[in-house]
Amino acid sequence: MKRLPAAMHVILLAACGLICSCSTPQKPALAIVHVTVIDATGAAARPDMTVLVNDQHIAAIGPFATTAIPRGAHVVDGAGKFLIPGLADMHVHLTGAGEPKGSREFILPLLIANGITTVRDMGGKVEFLSQLRREIENGDRPGPQIFFTGPYIDGDPPGYQPTIVVRSAAEARDAVDLLVKEKVDFIKVQSRLTRDAYFAVADETKQRHIRFVGHVPDQISALEASQAGQASIEHLTGILLACSAGEDELWKRRLAPAPPNQPASEFRALDRAWRQELLDSYSPAKAEALFRAFVANGTWQVPTFPILVHLGFVTPKTSLLEDSRMRYVPQNVKKIWNQGVSGQLQNYSDEDFAIREKIVQRSLEVVGEMQAAGVRIMAGTDLAAPNVFPGSSLHEDLAYLVQAGLTPMQALQAATKNPSEFLGELQTQGTIEPGKFADLVLLDANPLDDIRNTQKIRAVFLRGKLFDRNTLDEMLAKVERFAAAN
Ligand SMILES: [Zn+2]
Repeated sequence: MKRLPAAMHVILLAACGLICSCSTPQKPALAIVHVTVIDATGAAARPDMTVLVNDQHIAAIGPFATTAIPRGAHVVDGAGKFLIPGLADMHVHLTGAGEPKGSREFILPLLIANGITTVRDMGGKVEFLSQLRREIENGDRPGPQIFFTGPYIDGDPPGYQPTIVVRSAAEARDAVDLLVKEKVDFIKVQSRLTRDAYFAVADETKQRHIRFVGHVPDQISALEASQAGQASIEHLTGILLACSAGEDELWKRRLAPAPPNQPASEFRALDRAWRQELLDSYSPAKAEALFRAFVANGTWQVPTFPILVHLGFVTPKTSLLEDSRMRYVPQNVKKIWNQGVSGQLQNYSDEDFAIREKIVQRSLEVVGEMQAAGVRIMAGTDLAAPNVFPGSSLHEDLAYLVQAGLTPMQALQAATKNPSEFLGELQTQGTIEPGKFADLVLLDANPLDDIRNTQKIRAVFLRGKLFDRNTLDEMLAKVERFAAAN
């Protein structure tokens, strides 16, 4: 082989150096100084710290007095401020607001502006979601890390779209196999699955080493779901029923088909009576046994209070249609939200609303009891369902979790450490520790004093990239302009 002239070596080396420095750009280090670190491990807040960020990662954390700041580092003054890990919303629908723009112009910027750096998408088309994930990973647009289930697996007729409808155990197994091939992160089960199909999903996912998550179907009890290995239960589906001393009888009545031509008023009266009995028959002993099963089987809960309070059990008091955040909601989405919420408000009476309030109250209590019993809980919203604002609703959920009886630290962990554990990502994220991704939120006030302080966002760090308040405000203004024009 002919030797290259010496000069050529130099050129090649230089070119190589150029290429290498292009493919792994060394961003100048970033130092957040004098900040109070709330690392979400459960440890006490540490005041006057320096957090060094190198490229995408947390390089070091130490007392300001003894931690050297690298020459040329960009210094962010954290005096009087509080640093928490980036937040996770464990129940979202990124692509439900009209693709391709709904996710890109409306939802993603609102998530980042509100400090949400990880999401679990609980229903959408695989092609849309993988494209979105690719764009974020390639750095084409800022966005959270995305885990997704792809389409639902549901019975016939399905409750929502996109769905793979399955009518038998064999079809259920095929659906799981198809989704595994499409590389989804979880399988999502929905309310109308038959018992055969549900248990086939449970068995097939076990064999395929993928977890299944979602609603407890109408035909299945929450205890059965836990025993079958469902990894997370959404919206507290089936929980109150499984805590009732009258479970069998109430369940039978719920599943019985409505008589033909039943007047709406009669249906609502029966529904109210059913719910009142559900509340009255709450059995602490049954609840305790159920929660023990959740702990033993590793069944996580994602209550999603924003959709429960503001849509599922909405009342005139909890409707957010007049909320100032409506300015971020595109006109076409607003139309759908209006229909969804007004339908709930117009056709129901004060008696219905009173019972809804009681159900919400009991649901809050149950979540507090579950936390006390050691059941694992994660924050989630069900965005962008009507009245569920992308980004900010996650902060509402944290406040509801505190109302339920969690400490502010436990609520914070429900959106940081717990999701990372659930996702199997605690090695790289979820707490503020050296070596982890620099997904961080800088707050103007202490969230351990008042959880609503998570809303006082001064800056967001997404994989080490700083979004200061001005940048976040510009992003919000852009969403507002998009919303007005679409
Ligand atoms: Zn959902």
